[in-house]
Parts: sequence; C-alpha cells; structure tokens
Amino acid sequence: MNIVLIGRPGSGKGTQSKRLEARFGLRHLSTGDLMRAAREAGGSLGCEVASFLDSGQLVPDDLVVALVEDEIARESCPAFLFDGFPRTVNQAEALDEMLARRSSRIDCVVELEIDDQIGVERLYERAQQEGRTDDTPETIRTRMGVYEQWTSPVADYYRAAGLHLPVDAVGTMDEVFSRIEQAIGAAAGKAAARIE
Ligand code: ADP
Repeated sequence: MNIVLIGRPGSGKGTQSKRLEARFGLRHLSTGDLMRAAREAGGSLGCEVASFLDSGQLVPDDLVVALVEDEIARESCPAFLFDGFPRTVNQAEALDEMLARRSSRIDCVVELEIDDQIGVERLYERAQQEGRTDDTPETIRTRMGVYEQWTSPVADYYRAAGLHLPVDAVGTMDEVFSRIEQAIGAAAGKAAARIE
C-alpha cells in the first residue's frame, strides 16, 4: 500500500505521519525532512535548497522528484507514506510514472483539511516551541499562498482519479488519527469489493 498525505502547513502532517507509519507498516518519506537534510548537508545543493526553504517557496520539481526517486530506488517493493509530496501536479504525474515503473501505484490520498487561520495559529505556536527557520510570519503567509496555488490542484488531480480522502484535521491528535484510519479503512473496503 502507498499512501499520500497532503495538507496546508500547520495541518499536522508530521504528527499524523509518525502514527500512520506505525499503524500501516509504511516507510515515512517526508520531502520537507529530505529538503532540510539536504540543506544541513551543505554544498551547492544545500545552498540552492536553503534559499527556497527559507523563503517558503517550493523547491523546483526536478530537484524534489530526483531526490524522491533516489529514496524509492532503495526499496525493492515500495510501501510508502509520502508526506508533503506531491505538492504540484507535475510532481504527482512524476510519482505515478515512478511507481508504475515498479508495478506499483498510489492507493489513497489523505488531505488534512483546516482553515488558513487555524494553520497559521498552529504554526505561530510551533515557532515558539521549535524555532523552525521557515515559521516566520512572512514565510507562513507565503507557504499558505503556495498551497492554494500549487497544491490545491493536486487534490483535484487525485479527486479525478477517485483516490482523494478529505479528513477534517481540527480536533485532538487522537480524533484526527481515528478519522484518518476510518477513511483509509473505508477506501480499502471499497477497493476490495471492486476486486471481488
Ligand atoms: P509545511 O507543510 O509545514 O510547509 P514541510 O516540512 O512539508 O512543511 O515543507 C517545508 C518546505 O520544504 C516547503 O515550504 C518547501 O520549501 C519544501 N518542500 C517540501 N516538500 C516539497 C515538495 N514536495 N516540493 C517542493 N518543495 C517542497
């Protein structure tokens, strides 16, 4: 099973990913973590990535896709939880192709839904606790706009493919997790019924 998790900044992707990874035995692949690791590693790649991260803009598709492809190539039989990827329709198409080459596919796409305003509030809180360099007021605004412009169409892309599962991400961590489990369980049940 391959699951995609998308959602606005502050929707709780990181938190829910850790639990989903354990619950469904998936390998967690967060492109945000991948980008931060590339920045820490330094060099010309690190410098390039840092400029996008720190301004809240998306890292260019070809760079992200190449890094994801490297990660996927390490596994003979992919069972991934893609966290924060794909974030553009281009990336979604590239992911479909990568998986198809391995006779695999995306099984469902969970979108954690929250209002802009709640996302912004959560990020302000996180900024005080964790001090992430891209959690400044200006960058947060940019990241929200980027989600609207580039990632909302990704939700439409998967909606058209019948894979999109919207989940209300307002509530406690446990409440949201159980909604995600239910949505995935219902989708898996429908898929099994189709095969029978
Ligand atoms: P958040 O959802 O809170 O913005 P992430 O950790 O998912 O946090 O992403 C942080 C940053 O990493 C993004 O603002 C962007 O610069 C970069 N990034 C992460 N994933 C992608 C991706 N799939 N495509 C392009 N850039 C990405």
